[in-house]
Formats: sequence, structure tokens, C-alpha cells
Amino acid sequence: MVSKTLTIITTTNKMIRPYILAETNWKDVKDSNYDLAILPWGATEAHNFHLPYATDIIEADNIAYESAKIAWNNGAKIIVLPTIPFGVNTGQADIKLDMNLNPSTQSAILSDVIEVLQRANIFKLLILNSHGGNDFKSIIRELGLKFPKMFLSTCNWFQALDKNEFFEHQGDHADEMETSLLLHLSPHLVLPLEDAGEGNEKKHKIKEFSEGWAWSERKWSQISEDTGTGNPKFSTKEKGERYFKAVTVKISNFLISLSKANVNDLYE
Ligand SMILES: [Zn+2]
Repeated sequence: MVSKTLTIITTTNKMIRPYILAETNWKDVKDSNYDLAILPWGATEAHNFHLPYATDIIEADNIAYESAKIAWNNGAKIIVLPTIPFGVNTGQADIKLDMNLNPSTQSAILSDVIEVLQRANIFKLLILNSHGGNDFKSIIRELGLKFPKMFLSTCNWFQALDKNEFFEHQGDHADEMETSLLLHLSPHLVLPLEDAGEGNEKKHKIKEFSEGWAWSERKWSQISEDTGTGNPKFSTKEKGERYFKAVTVKISNFLISLSKANVNDLYE
């Protein structure tokens, strides 16, 4: 089903996407009803030698906008909030200008955002997370008690698909996936791949930490020499484009389901 609402309002020289709060205007917003707010959440941190500090933000912006476009064109009443640019970087304190927000600060930000949404009669929120160090589950549990009218949810776009189907070398930071995405989304910000390190990741000597059931924060400067984990050398913009299309289609379906769902009737 395609909505009759135009995706992009075009008047002379204007290209305004009505589902992006930063682009739309009071004239439009004051009379619009939204079912769901999307809060993309990134990080500002070193990404090997070759990718920009804003890598997670660029990914969050573009994935949110494209997914929202598809969902909006299918009738979902959603509004994408501006991306929060800083994430949890407690494990990278000794990596220059990795911008850390503590989890307690994230919780305070979210609490304030939720109060704004409630005043606008928006009772569903999805945090579109773009950074592995961000973990919103325990925050959502606590804020869910404080704001019982709200449906709070989170997703990690980078876990939405099996990366093996798109990329030859796996990793989780400035890897082939992220480098390919940036070659597709912001090629002017990517240094030549010969400038990149190989993203070798040192494994834990205590094997239980590598088995997935025991956890301790990794001290990033000790596990990687170039801040990357995952070899980026086989990255291409074609791989990035293919992955971007697939991940935004998948997330758009999720946005449509969420925006239309009756939160009092979620289980079968
Ligand atoms: Zn990243």
C-alpha cells in the first residue's frame, strides 16, 4: 500500500522530508499526528586510520532516513529525531577524542526526550542504535517503570542481517561492513584503503570471555593497534550499497509494524 502523502514536499528549491524533524517545520508539525518516534543514537570515535570519527553517526542518519522513507510511503506515521552524536566509550578513554557519554547520562537524556514525546502525544519510541558500546536495555527497563504510558524499544541495525551474506571478512569496528557502507554513503570522507590498518583483534587469554557467556569490558587500546577490529581491505562501495538497501528494507518493515501495532495487544 502506498500512501497518498508525498515523500518529499517540493516547492521552488525546497526538498523537505516530512518524517525528519530536523528538516520539517512548525507549519507541518503542529497539525501532524505521529505514532512512533525514532531516536538514532551514534558515537564519535576513532575508526581505524581511514574512517571518520562520525562513522556511526553517518550510518545512523542514513539508515534512519532511508528506512523511514520506505515506512512513510507505506503509511507509517513516524518522525525521526536528530541523532545523538555521542555514545558510551568508557573502554576507549585513552583513545584521543573518543567522546564518552556515561550510561547514567544517556538515561537522563532519554528521560527528557520521553517527556517531550509524551507532551506531543507520541507514546512509542524506538532507539535505533548505531554503536556497540551503547546498551539501552537496562535503561529502558528502568524508564519503562517511570513512564508506564510509553512503549520503549531499541534495535541494533548492525545485527539485523547476517553479515556473512554480504562481506568476506567479519569484524565489529571499522571492518569491511562499516568501510563498505561509508564508501557508499560518504566516500569523500574515507582515506585510501592502503592507509588503513588490518584491524587485527587480540583475543582474551581467559577463554570464557570469548565464549559469549562471560563478559568484561574490553580495553580497546589493548586489543587493537589501529582501533579497528576486522580487516577492511576488501571493502567496496558496491558491497556497501547492497547491504544498505537490504538493511533499510528490513528496518522499514519493523518501523511499519511498530507504528501500526496496538501495544496492548502484542502477543499471540
Ligand atoms: Zn562504528
